Amino acid sequence: AWCAALGPREVLLAEPRSFCAGVERAIATVEQALDRHGAPVYVRRQIVHNSHVVADLERRGAVFVQEADEVPTGSTLVLAAHGVAPSVRRTAASRRLAVVDATCPLVTKVHAGVRRHAGHGATVFLIGHAEHEEVEGTVGEGVEARGTVIVVGSEAEAEAVTAADPARVASAVQTTLAVDEAERIAAVLRRRFPALVEPRSADICYATTNRQAAVRAVAAEADRLVVVGSANSSNSVRLAEVGARAGVAARRVDRPDELDLSWLAAARRVAVTAGASAPDHLVDGGVGSVVDLLRGLGPVTVTPRPTTTEDVRFTLPKEVS
Ligand code: SF4
Repeated sequence: AWCAALGPREVLLAEPRSFCAGVERAIATVEQALDRHGAPVYVRRQIVHNSHVVADLERRGAVFVQEADEVPTGSTLVLAAHGVAPSVRRTAASRRLAVVDATCPLVTKVHAGVRRHAGHGATVFLIGHAEHEEVEGTVGEGVEARGTVIVVGSEAEAEAVTAADPARVASAVQTTLAVDEAERIAAVLRRRFPALVEPRSADICYATTNRQAAVRAVAAEADRLVVVGSANSSNSVRLAEVGARAGVAARRVDRPDELDLSWLAAARRVAVTAGASAPDHLVDGGVGSVVDLLRGLGPVTVTPRPTTTEDVRFTLPKEVS
């Protein structure tokens, strides 16, 4: 059956895809910390949610831990891109750790909004996934401000939430949600709480927004969509969902060799993207990349499909710049 399927195939590369400015900065932060202090440099949680990035930094001497209290007193500790609750900083300070904070500035911006509203006594509805590490940190900011933060993960939850004072309510959004899904949840909150104060500028970050728009643009043209990204990468998982909602059969893989080629054999046009934490060499970087594996099925033409260009760059944390 496969032989009949072999034949010319077009690969449509969604653009932008792969690393965002926050991920570039977080990886460079660990690299710089290793250069300056030598191994081991400790990192709390995965620096970014990608198994390849973590394995690569581990080889260079980074040691990944769950919590700051596992780190030997006086060592260097890098905090991951998705941010932490204030209690983590206290634990680090109590162990006299040299903290290098790689929290993405766009996550810090969301933290500031939650702190401000919670500090003024508002109930903050945080649109996001309760189990995600970014949400843990953002909730922690609200708790620190002695406020109430309620995570709202679905339209049904938005229909059910209550606030101590419905006239004092605000919302915030996890940076890596699906734009369309988050908007539907926000619409329910807006309807139920007319006094709702929403973020002044979108909390879902530019990189998440742009990667989803790029996927929607290629989805209409493709028979299949491959998303490269780890299972715990929120924005990667969302890219596959956004593609599926746009009508293309979509799968996410952490490693190209997880791809089921029989699923791709009959497809003439295959769209490929990568989440903001996934290295681009896995898409089209020679041996073992997605494009390379597709070449095993027959001739391939690679066509970039840019929807916008990105020029966002963040400076490194002062401890390593
Ligand atoms: Fe920052 Fe957005 Fe990248 Fe997350 S996905 S690290 S919020 S730029």
